[in-house]
Amino acid sequence: MALVAIVLVPACTKKDIPNDPEPAPQEKPEPEPEPEPEPEPEPEPVEGLLKGTIIGTQTSVDYSSGSSSVLVNTREMAFDGKLDTFFASYDRSGTWVGLDLGEPHIITKVGCAPRSTQESRVALALFEGANMADFSDALPLAIVKEKGTSGKLSYLDVDCSRAFRYVRYVGPHDARCNVAEVEFYGYKAAGDDTRLPRLTNLPTVVINTANAQAIASKETYVSANIYILSDEGLLDCTGSEIKGRGNASWDFPKKPYKMKFAEKQHVLGSPAKDKKWTLINNYGDKTLMRNILAFEVSRRVGMAYTPFCAPVDVIVNGEYQGCYQLCDQVEVGKERVPAKDGYLIEIDAYATGEAVYFYSSKGTPVTIKYPDDEVITWDQISFVEDFYGRMETALFAAYYQSAKSGYRKYMDVDSFLQNFIVGEFCGNTDTYWSMYMYKDGAEGPLFTGPAWDYDLAFENDQRTYPINSLYDYIYANAGSVASGSVRDMVNRIVKQDPDAKARLLELWEQAKPQLASMNDYVTETAALLDESQKLNFLRWPILNQRVHQNFQATGSYEGEVNTVKQYITARLSRLDQLIRR
Ligand code: CA
Repeated sequence: MALVAIVLVPACTKKDIPNDPEPAPQEKPEPEPEPEPEPEPEPEPVEGLLKGTIIGTQTSVDYSSGSSSVLVNTREMAFDGKLDTFFASYDRSGTWVGLDLGEPHIITKVGCAPRSTQESRVALALFEGANMADFSDALPLAIVKEKGTSGKLSYLDVDCSRAFRYVRYVGPHDARCNVAEVEFYGYKAAGDDTRLPRLTNLPTVVINTANAQAIASKETYVSANIYILSDEGLLDCTGSEIKGRGNASWDFPKKPYKMKFAEKQHVLGSPAKDKKWTLINNYGDKTLMRNILAFEVSRRVGMAYTPFCAPVDVIVNGEYQGCYQLCDQVEVGKERVPAKDGYLIEIDAYATGEAVYFYSSKGTPVTIKYPDDEVITWDQISFVEDFYGRMETALFAAYYQSAKSGYRKYMDVDSFLQNFIVGEFCGNTDTYWSMYMYKDGAEGPLFTGPAWDYDLAFENDQRTYPINSLYDYIYANAGSVASGSVRDMVNRIVKQDPDAKARLLELWEQAKPQLASMNDYVTETAALLDESQKLNFLRWPILNQRVHQNFQATGSYEGEVNTVKQYITARLSRLDQLIRR
């Protein structure tokens, strides 16, 4: 049954007025022309409050008993026009209430009022529109960015040209909806896709999984329609798949994801056109930009390939998840790791959790990432293992400097040193905990890169804080390497090999002027992220708490960014000292 909510609709007030064109000349000595007492203050209202069939989560909660109900606090109460009745779902999250409008409508405005005294429970509620009854094609209309006011509807203008038959209010995480009234305004129209709203100035990634199932596994993909809204318009990735990813980062409440599109796509201006993309969660990195900065450092140092990365807002099944980074998947491909006839390996402290890995004779754990697990042959595995072993042997042999048989035959030293500079400048604990190397074909050496996984960098790790007071490089610190043999390898190259040492200084001299202005880039990035970080920390209110390896909690986004800036300034001179000594 369709209920009309009784609220001030601008269209109503306006209609009543023209009956009385002029108040007739009376006692008034007319002080000035003065038109009617009510000069139609409302703007052009072709639209009105929309009615429709009420849809949404069926089971409500009876707060008097705490049990589930279909009688009290029902979804209908969000549309009964009364501000003292409300919908409260039994489930705490993933619940919603909305309207089936019967046919597509352009939505121009939405409103909601919180359950009395539960004002914060509307913050981060999301209004969505769809043309599939299951909301699998839902797009955002508006997000509530602050708490509401008891007994009052708050409105948000919507600038969306697509028309929707189904509209809904999705309660924020853990809020049981708790909404007293919901309203949609608009008008019947066919619509188009010229204007689709985003949550902030950043692109918005919308993920609607099949049957709204949770993305709960790192192994098994879930079907999903994925939409990316940006200045370039709508990227429609219907029929995609998504799963979890990451090692330590998967254990945080804000989850990292891996997306696999049905078709290869350029995404947000990415150089690569590919199916696989990652969404980096940045939970413990409260600047939300450490990976972005590291990639910029990688470019400025001149590494051959730096992963593409763009900050985005993420919605999963109508729930705002936070500010993420949409990045390349580290894999071999065009405009990705340049090793299409070769190999991609990772010196990897987590190797034992991977499908294909080996230990070198000196005890370095190495994962083979490419060729893929499903297609790699035993011959290929033996080849890589053997090649890595020969590199290691040559590196630690007395003849290691020999041009003919020394380690340079197996390893490209420049890329190793560039990767070293990126890791040390950024102060990354993880650089030698996880280090990528690749090889293009059977011939030629192993190159080092790309730089990846920098959320603990830029002074974000209590185990190495304060980095610039460490006596040595960060890699020399316990816990910063996948194995002792990895530290031995780095020592050999950057401390013992006089030619490599000299080359390191040259590369550092080249990079230093580019790195000297990194803090301008930090400032620009902070400005770019500002709107999004506010939403992110509404969703994840952790600015006052230490998470992961944080050595401090400054209590503000600005404070976190300033820590990075101070670090960068100090690091430039400290690394200069270390490299010259
Ligand atoms: Ca109500």
